[in-house]
Amino acid sequence: MTTCPRCPADQTFRVATAPVGAVWEVRQCGRCWYTWRSTEPAARRDPGHFPADFRMSPQTIAEAPQMPAVPPLAPGVAERGLPSSSSPGADPSGKPSPERAERPAPGAGHQEGRS
Ligand SMILES: [Zn+2]
Repeated sequence: MTTCPRCPADQTFRVATAPVGAVWEVRQCGRCWYTWRSTEPAARRDPGHFPADFRMSPQTIAEAPQMPAVPPLAPGVAERGLPSSSSPGADPSGKPSPERAERPAPGAGHQEGRS
């Protein structure tokens, strides 16, 4: 198991391996998304040598600013965007959606391979 040099989590996984000779691999952290190649200097791949100023913890990850910041939705987007209910696609009135109502029932209409 490889520990992330930056956060340091044990949730790292291999992203790529050298195509010839497997002389290096690229790993990525599943918590802070830091990515490094096994042949980089110790300050980039070894938790014991990673610069203290650039280390992260679960708290600093949670408090990190959005880069770039996501602006608020434009006026009117919320009304025609995703439904606000917890189940996507569910109609709060319980009626079938027009799209679903126009579809033929299963087994009705043309059936291939029966002519
Ligand atoms: Zn990490």
